Amino acid sequence: MYDVIIIGGGPAGLTAAIYARRANLKTLVLEATACGGQIIITPDIENYPAAMHISGLDFASRLESQARELGADINFEEVTDINDRGVEKDVITDSNTYATKSIIIATGTKPRKLGLEGESHLVGHGVSYCATCDGSFYRGRVVAVTGGGNTALDDALFLSNIAEKVYLIHRRDSFRGDAETVEKLKAQPNVELVLNSNVTKLNYDKTLNSIEVTDNDGNKSELEVAALFIAIGRTPATDAFANKITLREGYIDGEYCHTNIPGIFVAGDCRYKEVRQLVTATSDGAVAVHEVVKLLNKS
Ligand SMILES: Cc1cc2nc3c(=O)[nH]c(=O)nc-3n(C[C@H](O)[C@H](O)[C@H](O)COP(=O)(O)OP(=O)(O)OC[C@H]3O[C@@H](n4cnc5c(N)ncnc54)[C@H](O)[C@@H]3O)c2cc1C
Repeated sequence: MYDVIIIGGGPAGLTAAIYARRANLKTLVLEATACGGQIIITPDIENYPAAMHISGLDFASRLESQARELGADINFEEVTDINDRGVEKDVITDSNTYATKSIIIATGTKPRKLGLEGESHLVGHGVSYCATCDGSFYRGRVVAVTGGGNTALDDALFLSNIAEKVYLIHRRDSFRGDAETVEKLKAQPNVELVLNSNVTKLNYDKTLNSIEVTDNDGNKSELEVAALFIAIGRTPATDAFANKITLREGYIDGEYCHTNIPGIFVAGDCRYKEVRQLVTATSDGAVAVHEVVKLLNKS
């Protein structure tokens, strides 16, 4: 029986694991893919206090090592459900059911999808949500990015140094992201801005061959691309808990990291809040464990 099971091995979950082990709690982190969460896709973190210029991968790897060195168990399994049995709870994955006295949900957010036919099937075969992770597979090829925020702009700039040509497709006539990055993109000879337009179809056999783009007047065109990088925002990764935990706009509603169920807590970007950053995610991890300790000391 674990004292606490933390669902999600991103910055919030791993920080919770560090604090939980420092409080001598028997701790398990369940992570669906790889430790680190969203931050692994950023090449340079500039705003985490006292960690000037560290890559997201290094940051994540240090967090994971710290949690492991302090004695947290980390298993790579996706959590599909939780079951509240009162004082004890179950955390259910594809392969196991784990018993625990408390749960911290730290599942963060996931990339928003375009919702086009073939999109899920093409992930790894021409569709990607992470230019830093997958860009090098398309070295010397023609690629497209869709989105209008900083992630889309950064992705397009990053890819312009790898790909032969980059189309940046955005549904509006101006970008939400940094004006400075927009200027850098405009100066790149191999970047073409496709504004007031949406990607409306993926043409593929085994891999992506081309995309259909429709402008705001309804005119359609076809762009031959080897890859489409989708950067249109993120949504909370809370589907597995939606039937049990109270959500607000898809995020878990949880002041002081409490949820509506005693003994089940929430930390990080999946929590309803205004600022979603590393400092607020790690801070939530610490607060959630503080609340777990208070609960366990009472029982
Ligand atoms: C491109 C980009 C750049 C960024 N740059 C910065 C920056 O420079 N500075 C900054 O402060 N913030 C930055 N952020 C924001 C920062 O990354 C997030 O605020 C932070 O990662 C949130 O941490 P988290 O642990 O709450 O969630 P996440 O990082 O989303 O981690 C959640 C983890 O839970 C796992 N998970 C999800 N569902 C399940 C499940 N059912 N079972 C098991 N595991 C599950 C996921 O695989 C993931 O590893 C950036 C974000 C992005 C996307």
